[in-house]
Amino acid sequence: MPRFFIEQVVPADAEVLTLGADDTHHACQVLRLKQGDEIEVCDDHHTLHRCVIRDLPKRQEKLTVQIIERQLSDSEPPYEIILYQALPKGDKMTTVIRMAVELGVTQIVPVLAERSVSRPTEKKLENRRQRWQNVAEAAAKQCGRARVPQVLSLMTVAESLTYLDDIRLEGKSGSRQLVDGPPVGEDILTFIPYEGEDAVSLHDYLNPHPRPNQIAFFVGPEGGFSAAEIDQFMSAGLSTVSLGPRILRTETAAAAVLSMLSYHYELT
Ligand code: SAM
Repeated sequence: MPRFFIEQVVPADAEVLTLGADDTHHACQVLRLKQGDEIEVCDDHHTLHRCVIRDLPKRQEKLTVQIIERQLSDSEPPYEIILYQALPKGDKMTTVIRMAVELGVTQIVPVLAERSVSRPTEKKLENRRQRWQNVAEAAAKQCGRARVPQVLSLMTVAESLTYLDDIRLEGKSGSRQLVDGPPVGEDILTFIPYEGEDAVSLHDYLNPHPRPNQIAFFVGPEGGFSAAEIDQFMSAGLSTVSLGPRILRTETAAAAVLSMLSYHYELT
């Protein structure tokens, strides 16, 4: 059944809902849906609406569908995960994003690390971010997510740490709200998988912590983070952790971490 996402919260007593122009076009012109066909619509509160098309829209109108069933989706992790991914070479970011969405990421922040080989121009960057956002939406539809993870604009290491501070402050002030969950609060876990770390594993780091409301972690580029960047991260309060004795490719590392987080906090 085709799945659509709308950036609003559908009132619990609503009997119909209306798709946006792009989704209307996709449903009617691309998928050629007709009267009687059913679709799933996720809203901003992770509520899944099973809907049926009663009437097709006239030209320029948007598609309004009748809600026949609603339920809170169980496909979202019980916490937010923010992946800060150092810009990798070529089109590896597409692979990183696709796997991260399937594994429950909430936000992806591309980071320009010292050893990031790829240095796209401003213009190219916005085109790439839009393409990456489309990859995230397609992956979210394919794997049945109840939300489309957000791909943010490229940040420097300093900007990414400032953004992390903002998130921590929002957590402290309770202004950052988990959907249908508790305020994010101060329990945010922040770490960097670092191949130079040989004392503390990700398991050692997670074990003492009950399930947090937020997790943020950084993954380095093909050449890894520089010593100066690692110092910057540690001064910002992030812990370095090992993912084991083998060196993972940058496009493997995020998926490995997300799989371990899912195992540790969702499956056990
Ligand atoms: N400096 C590495 C080397 O010696 O080849 C290259 C970095 S690795 C390709 C890319 C990123 O994946 C690293 O910056 C780190 O964030 C993560 N990573 C890879 N293997 C890891 C491991 N065994 N433990 C912790 N982090 C790892």
